[in-house]
Amino acid sequence: MEEIIIATKNSGKAREFERIFNAKGAKVKTLLDFPDMEDVEETGSTFEENAKIKAETISKKLNKMVIADDSGLEVDALEGRPGVYSARYAGPSKNDEDNIDKVLEELTGVPENERTARFRCVLAIAQPGKETVTFAGSCEGQILTERRGTNGFGYDPIFFVTEKGKAMAELLPEEKNKISHRANAIQKLEENFAFDFGGEA
Ligand code: IMP
Repeated sequence: MEEIIIATKNSGKAREFERIFNAKGAKVKTLLDFPDMEDVEETGSTFEENAKIKAETISKKLNKMVIADDSGLEVDALEGRPGVYSARYAGPSKNDEDNIDKVLEELTGVPENERTARFRCVLAIAQPGKETVTFAGSCEGQILTERRGTNGFGYDPIFFVTEKGKAMAELLPEEKNKISHRANAIQKLEENFAFDFGGEA
């Protein structure tokens, strides 16, 4: 059976990918199946660069098809920050609550109509001997002035989803999984990427 490696240790993300690839007859593994694999440093300045770096580095090491994603929050009034630094915005401890506090503090006094923001996600698929392909997804919204809701993770409690009229953290997981930046990118991959399973012996 064809095997695809998802470059993540996050089981929630892995499940989203498993749903797609199991249906196509491929087996999904994650980095949890390769405990000796060193973390790939995200040295790029865009989500696309980081997703490519991760997918290509691991694909070369394992000689297999690898899918990596990179995602984060872009706030217009902060010139696109936290961007690729979303996970470690308030420091290397990668603490979600501290990251939220930092964004709220930086937006103190910024009026509602200037608090526009979006979540972005880029998926990169690297294969031995082939050009890497990427797919991007986004989800538009606004940064609230205080936390709302308890679902999700990361910046979800302060991200008001325009399309839903609710904070991301107020949405049920199945609602978020239909409209999120990651769902959006996965959908594009499903619609546009021809998996070449079973071609070569
Ligand atoms: P990564 O792509 O797993 O490295 O995520 C980068 C960071 O972006 C996370 O640690 C979160 O802070 C933020 N982020 C990415 N996706 C989401 C989301 O769906 N909700 C809230 N925050 C997110």
